[in-house]
Amino acid sequence: MPTAAASAREILVRLHDVMASRTPAQAKLNQVVGIIGEETDSEVCSVYLLREGVLELFATRGLAQEAVHVTKLALGEGLVGTIAERGEVLNLDEAASHPDFRYMPETGEERFHSFAGVPIIRRERVVGVLAVQHAEQRRYADVEIEALLTVAMVLSELIANAGLIDTGAVTDRPQSTAAVRIPGQKLVEGMASGAAVFHQPRIVVEHTVAEDTDAERHRVYAAFDKMREQIDRIAREAEFGVGGEHIEVIETYKMFAYDEGWARRINEAIDSGLTAEAAIERVQQRTRQRMRQIDDPLLADRMHDLEDLANRLLRIVSGQMGTAAQLGLRQDTILIARNLGPAELLEYDRRRLKGVILEEGSLTAHVTIVARAMGVPVLGRVRDVRRLIAEGDQLLLDVAEANVFVRPSAAMEEAFDAKLVLRQKRKAAFAALRDVPPETKDGHRVTLMINAGLRDDVGALDITGADGIGLFRTEFQFLVSATLPQRERQQRLYREVLETAGDRPVVFRTIDIGGDKALPYLKLEGGTEENPAMGWRALRLSLERDGLMKVQARALLEAGAGRTLNVMFPMVSEAWEFDEAKALFEAQRDWLSSRGKRAPNEVRYGAMLEVPALAEQLDLLLPAVDFLSIGTNDLTQFLFAADRANPKLAERYDWLSSSILRFLRRVAAAAREQGVPVAVCGEMGGRPLEALALIGIGIDRLSITPAAVGPVKAMIRSLDRAAVTAALDTLLEKPPRDMRGALEGWAAANGIELA
Ligand code: PEP
Ligand code: MG
Repeated sequence: MPTAAASAREILVRLHDVMASRTPAQAKLNQVVGIIGEETDSEVCSVYLLREGVLELFATRGLAQEAVHVTKLALGEGLVGTIAERGEVLNLDEAASHPDFRYMPETGEERFHSFAGVPIIRRERVVGVLAVQHAEQRRYADVEIEALLTVAMVLSELIANAGLIDTGAVTDRPQSTAAVRIPGQKLVEGMASGAAVFHQPRIVVEHTVAEDTDAERHRVYAAFDKMREQIDRIAREAEFGVGGEHIEVIETYKMFAYDEGWARRINEAIDSGLTAEAAIERVQQRTRQRMRQIDDPLLADRMHDLEDLANRLLRIVSGQMGTAAQLGLRQDTILIARNLGPAELLEYDRRRLKGVILEEGSLTAHVTIVARAMGVPVLGRVRDVRRLIAEGDQLLLDVAEANVFVRPSAAMEEAFDAKLVLRQKRKAAFAALRDVPPETKDGHRVTLMINAGLRDDVGALDITGADGIGLFRTEFQFLVSATLPQRERQQRLYREVLETAGDRPVVFRTIDIGGDKALPYLKLEGGTEENPAMGWRALRLSLERDGLMKVQARALLEAGAGRTLNVMFPMVSEAWEFDEAKALFEAQRDWLSSRGKRAPNEVRYGAMLEVPALAEQLDLLLPAVDFLSIGTNDLTQFLFAADRANPKLAERYDWLSSSILRFLRRVAAAAREQGVPVAVCGEMGGRPLEALALIGIGIDRLSITPAAVGPVKAMIRSLDRAAVTAALDTLLEKPPRDMRGALEGWAAANGIELA
């Protein structure tokens, strides 16, 4: 028996000549069915192509010629329609006994018993079916099916180049073209419409038949080497959580990257005469078909990883390595990615990036925080995107409803637009609150500040009317930069921020690098960390490698010359760490004054409380600090032992849990007793109901994402502080299991405005 490669190669050699000839497309197809029929020794060989949603018999050897362009089948109709609809192979010794068999008298096919058909796939979408038939009852051998699949790959190129199918059908489009709604998890609120763009564009295989098989083999060897190198490097660098990829994923990647079976199948496909790209795609198509028949969610996840890797291999082999950011966005875009690092997101053109869809993602991952700061809505945990969305598809993103509409119908668009108008009205109403103070009904003034991290964010101060910047994440500058920002560059940014803020305070947080904030250009020793969020990050790193922090201290002190400078340290775990960090700044300050250089009039030092242990050292810490800021993003992940970036845990614990509220109430009370101002600067404070609870436990300083200022201010102005304090006292005395439900009930009963 010939090998699959050998039988396919003979066909491909002959097809190559047909493809290269100058005959019209229909004549080429006629020749093709002749060649395949002869080479596979089949009595019938037919090609059906999808036109306007219908499968049309385009060429046949063996069936009645009168049936050509006459016989038509809907998707799902008959054996051919079934293959096209499911993208599956059928191999039957008695076609008529298959439940989907449909007899078509005009073809004269009643003589033929056996039937084998494979889908013709272009850019992951079925565009036609290639079928062979025999009079005798026989099952086709695996090698024959494999050969048919290889031929179908080549046919897809011929068909697309000849324009035999609708151009719409050959765009990068998945199986269905109908409108669909895909659910996800709300990460950053908002609505947006735009075209789907994949962060890592899918490669379209343009040439399928190889000119030089040896050369193709070498190309694929080299690509495998490079891909393995990349995966090994990612695994090594996982200490900084490159791209948010998790260890488990990387392990699976490694397993696939080194899988000999995969490499061998690709090589066999090359031996059959395909180009390296076509061989990779061909093997992937077959794997997809096989996996589709196995209904196992775990395997589906693995398939996802393999798809990613196959695409990586294709990108390497074709030399098309850029992300969509590097290629540039050409229109309003909704970006789709498995996951993104904050730096990757920041590479996109902010004017055109309207929304993001992540297959993973979690509420407090830094990419989410960056997107929130950019005002870009994000929907996370969206499943099956590659199958349901194609590059260029029109998308409507409605995060409030936790939905994305793909290829929306006119009715969907209308409903979306109507909602958008309402939303804009609400936004305008919030904007009208810009100059009114965030004051409760019983006259208590809350301090509402914003979180920022980039130069452009500072403009939000004027737009929102916020009281200042309660958290300036200085590491963002490091994340967006291709190289380590030098002191002058840092200083320039800090000065610009201070100038824009005028007399409103800005709290600069020293760099919090590590965890999910990786710096590609900064390689730090320490080996691979299994838990980077609990690892060598933020102040821990800054105190040990103090060169970075000294430079930053100088830049901040110089930028703050003649003003009050507020500095805050992240991830303080014990009081002495704060003391050391402050001493480092003070030493720089002394150095400046010893040189007669201008320094700030006053430097106020604060600590972030985001490691629970610090709460047990408040007696040591509070006398030393000028202010305290609670980072609830990290604090809750440590209190609950639940990774803030792990999508599986994203909805498990609630910020309104009594553990968190009691913890925060205790810290706030201790700080108040010592006269130390305490703020909350985590994402929690930007949600109106959570902000209500925070005010109820005695916190009256919030630093939140700019978009939340309006809604939170509206909530505050509808709130009676004495009443909410009493309500929380009662609720925390004997906490209900559903604290969120209880607070929602209280808010509704008390006429609280919750956006
Ligand atoms: C936090 O942890 O709550 C916080 C504000 O800091 P970041 O999100 O940058 O870690
Ligand atoms: Mg933090």
